[in-house]
Amino acid sequence: MENKVLNYKIDGLTKEGDCCPECNENWDGGDILEHFKNVRSNPEMDAHPFYKDKSDEELLEVVASYGWFEHTPIRFGKLIGMELGYNDPERYDGVSYWCCPGCGVSWNRFNGERSERFIKRITHEKNITQSEI
Ligand SMILES: [Zn+2]
Repeated sequence: MENKVLNYKIDGLTKEGDCCPECNENWDGGDILEHFKNVRSNPEMDAHPFYKDKSDEELLEVVASYGWFEHTPIRFGKLIGMELGYNDPERYDGVSYWCCPGCGVSWNRFNGERSERFIKRITHEKNITQSEI
């Protein structure tokens, strides 16, 4: 990748329009209250049956459990919080890296150091025969 960002501190709170500094993947999952209002009104959404009869006040209780309040209207984020295994020398009981879902590059939560440790390498190609298409 050409545009390597060697140090990037991420606080885990997604702001409107946040994107990956390397691949430009959109990390902004939208306002949490707006998401649940959308679920309530849109029968196409999987969770709609659970939220369709909720009042505005009940939705405010739901989003409060995510930490959304009128004075702190937080957003869903698409970054993936990576925890390390018990045998990893860098092990921390919680998120150690924030990983971009677009390119797989991650940045250390504590010092912002860039890492490619979670990028899955393709080691072999599956042979697809005409009958499988
Ligand atoms: Zn990315």
